[in-house]
Amino acid sequence: MTVSEPVPDPADFDRVADVTCPYCGEEVEVILDPGGASHQQYVEDCEVCCRPWHLDVRWDRRGDASVTARTEEQ
Ligand SMILES: [Zn+2]
Repeated sequence: MTVSEPVPDPADFDRVADVTCPYCGEEVEVILDPGGASHQQYVEDCEVCCRPWHLDVRWDRRGDASVTARTEEQ
């Protein structure tokens, strides 16, 4: 294990995250694509209620993903 590596390695970035749906409140696992930018915003439909999440995804230097789902009004 190389935990002291200071340069982010996309292979170590989180590829899934749990998101709580802002509409129905269900926790849903989403698949992430760390091969793009370290900050991504896009729309994905909730698997449970099919309403559109406006996702804001950020990876920190250690590759930990932080995902926020908002309703389309915000
Ligand atoms: Zn939902």
